[in-house]
Amino acid sequence: MNDAVSHLVRFEPVGIEMDVHEGETVLDAAFRQGISVMHGCKEGQCASCKSRLIEGDIELLKYSTFALPESERDTDHILLCRTLAYSDITVELLNYDEDLLSRSIAVKEIPATLTSVQSLTRDIRLLTLELSAPIRFWAGQYVDITIPGTGITRSFSMANAPGDHAAGGSTTLQFIIKIYPQGAFSALLDGGLADGQPLIVKGPYGTCFHREGRPGPLVLIGGGSGMSPLWSILQDHAARGDHRPVRFFYGARTRADLFHLEEFAGFTSRLPNFRFIPALSHAEPGDEWTGETGFIHDVVARTLRAEGLDGEIDAYSCGPPPMIDAVLPVLQMAGVEPERIYFDKFTPATR
Ligand SMILES: Cc1cc2nc3c(=O)[nH]c(=O)nc-3n(C[C@H](O)[C@H](O)[C@H](O)COP(=O)(O)OP(=O)(O)OC[C@H]3O[C@@H](n4cnc5c(N)ncnc54)[C@H](O)[C@@H]3O)c2cc1C
Repeated sequence: MNDAVSHLVRFEPVGIEMDVHEGETVLDAAFRQGISVMHGCKEGQCASCKSRLIEGDIELLKYSTFALPESERDTDHILLCRTLAYSDITVELLNYDEDLLSRSIAVKEIPATLTSVQSLTRDIRLLTLELSAPIRFWAGQYVDITIPGTGITRSFSMANAPGDHAAGGSTTLQFIIKIYPQGAFSALLDGGLADGQPLIVKGPYGTCFHREGRPGPLVLIGGGSGMSPLWSILQDHAARGDHRPVRFFYGARTRADLFHLEEFAGFTSRLPNFRFIPALSHAEPGDEWTGETGFIHDVVARTLRAEGLDGEIDAYSCGPPPMIDAVLPVLQMAGVEPERIYFDKFTPATR
């Protein structure tokens, strides 16, 4: 890559400049140089990195027209994760976050070993990896995990809290992963990958990370494996001795799909103003469920105001894209400032 032709990229209105090699996407160039711009799936599916080309020659790799409709392409909108530059270019960042830019961590590729796979429910597993070198990340971020020799790479959000950044970060990573029976990666966790399996971890990625130390309540909303980054954020919050009120909304189908209940009970007794609000969308008669029912966005819509939370809320939501799409307007209707809503859509991989 070092001998590759390079061009200059200038981001407005922040005035940051970097280089991009021909054949490298603008987003990958930013990751390489430790410049954290807004992004999500990195595969042209989620639209988080949507920006506007002010000047220069570019080509866009294949993307979803849900993420970038034709009408927006006609007005020079681009997806940074799909953009190749053929000249110096100037790009207007439509969504940028000073906090994000100031907390950039350069992406690294680190060999890792699978150390255990533990069942949390019938289709949720806890994967633990040991890395050959520590990685720094913020609670809520994700990495790409590759199974060498198979061409399979998938994104997974860390479930554990980050280690001490001053000591270089963490060498152990944990992930809460949902099994899809036909899933190229996830199905292998049920016997297809043995302890000791070599893997490659690349990251950290993601902008849905814990903005700790702020005043105002913390609202966490997840469904299924969306628990993974939220669990990391909750542990980070507890480890820092933070006293913000926390409401953790979690959607599952049935009672048997809930997990970590003892740990949640522990947080309820230890943290000063914490409430875990699980909701079942398909409670079964044997569940004898007396808690919330229905889809999690409806539960948030029904109950968030009644929680009587004072101050500006920071909201984090992770999980299946339809869940996030339903949660975002609910949060805005509840008065949460759009720039304080952070989310990761677990979009399916395209490769
Ligand atoms: C930013 C980000 C963070 C993520 N974090 C996590 C995480 O912490 N935990 C986690 O479990 N997953 C997470 N994912 C999703 C993960 O990357 C994979 O897409 C997922 O595990 C499926 O991969 P697979 O190889 O098992 O299935 P694939 O081989 O990619 O898909 C095979 C089949 O599985 C089914 N399937 C796959 N994905 C979905 C879906 N989203 N909805 C419905 N059906 C589907 C479909 O039938 C599909 O045809 C994240 C994704 C992103 C973009």
